[in-house]
Amino acid sequence: MPEKKVWNEKMETLGREEIERVRLRKLRKQLKYGYTHSEFYRRKFDEVGFRPDEIKTWEDFRKIPLLMDKEDERQSQKESIERFGHPFGIHLCCPPEKIVMAKTTGGTTGLPTFSYSFTQHDVDRWNEGTARGYWLAGLRPGDRVLFCFPLSGGWAGSIVKTPLQVMGILCLDIGAETPLEKIVEYAKVTWPNVLMSTPSFAEGLIEAYPKLTGKPVSELGIKKLLLSGEPGVAIPSIRKRMEEAFLGRWNDYLMINSEGFSSSCSADEYQGLHEVALDLTIWSDDLIDPDTKKPIEVKDGAIGEGLITSLDREGLPLIKYKLGDVIQVFTKSCECGYPGPGNRIKHIGRLADRLWVEGVSVFPIAVRDVVTSFIPRVTGAMRIVLTEPPPNITPPLKIKVEQGLGTEQMQLPDLAREIEERMFQLYQIRSKVEFVPPEALGRVTKKTPLFEEQYR
Ligand SMILES: [Zn+2]
Repeated sequence: MPEKKVWNEKMETLGREEIERVRLRKLRKQLKYGYTHSEFYRRKFDEVGFRPDEIKTWEDFRKIPLLMDKEDERQSQKESIERFGHPFGIHLCCPPEKIVMAKTTGGTTGLPTFSYSFTQHDVDRWNEGTARGYWLAGLRPGDRVLFCFPLSGGWAGSIVKTPLQVMGILCLDIGAETPLEKIVEYAKVTWPNVLMSTPSFAEGLIEAYPKLTGKPVSELGIKKLLLSGEPGVAIPSIRKRMEEAFLGRWNDYLMINSEGFSSSCSADEYQGLHEVALDLTIWSDDLIDPDTKKPIEVKDGAIGEGLITSLDREGLPLIKYKLGDVIQVFTKSCECGYPGPGNRIKHIGRLADRLWVEGVSVFPIAVRDVVTSFIPRVTGAMRIVLTEPPPNITPPLKIKVEQGLGTEQMQLPDLAREIEERMFQLYQIRSKVEFVPPEALGRVTKKTPLFEEQYR
């Protein structure tokens, strides 16, 4: 039997019109369900003056302003702890006893959020949406995944593992906090063919493996790289370096606040993340302006914040939830031939990280993209140096950049000028590049920071 092209051949091959019919039906049901089953949504809907049964069309829905962000989620949880003695929030739409999986995120500051809290129905829904993305990214039954995210044993572990299990894939989870030599030892007896980690971790493994074993990292036989949580895959020079080291292929995927099922595809050039579960989540089709918070038209190349609305979720549905991430949306079909009618999405950055330089806005990821386009004359590692609290920066924007291994001292002034000119051409921002030797910025196995906060 020929291999199936997508995970769910029924839902992922529906045309746009058909899927929109399914979505509208599910959306109206979800809105009504949220309103009748949770005090939180009843309160929110009443505040903005909408009643779910008034929402009959997609246009009606888009007029509803955003209802919720991370802070509302925390407040909702606080209230349910105080009043009902459970941490899931007053936006919970079912009895708390029905929650069978509860994973917290964050938690370094303040109350952790319980966004990944699922009823059995929601676990199945989560597995379904996630498996579609993994399939598009190239995972297949029989694969063995070395799972090396920070806190693998904690929140990240089980939510990744259950969809893999459903697909018939073995998840070998070992936290990224484990010393690298232990991870290498473990990999050498389990022989994974997939690595799931941050790009920073994979880069660390490329450097450490030869030092520990005397062999290149490609010896491990990892052919599929599912790296996410940081940019990089869209930058040809970084992607090439990664793929050549492992002799494998790099795809990325995203799971955001328990929704937004998406993955990159097999196209040679990076095309963004395909939305693979239009029947389970609304995301990029509900785009708002990051500043005015008003709806903006979803057309090819549009940039904005996507509001998340769950479909068919029982426990903790999100309705008009603002994540604080700015995305770019692509509506034209992709060369990979993925049949689903969903948009493609490129992550532009966290709104909270946005800087303003003389009235011009720029995301740190955009600065990083400029620097990394100069690889191999630079290593790709960089920091934006903040001498005053963001977001307003007095120009020039200071950028610390690691020079490349083969770059001579005398070449640096010209290289600095080139990078500064590119920054100006692309973003009309004055910058000042300062070089440091290769590896001077250190290497981390978690997420590499974008800022050096000197003002603190
Ligand atoms: Zn594609």
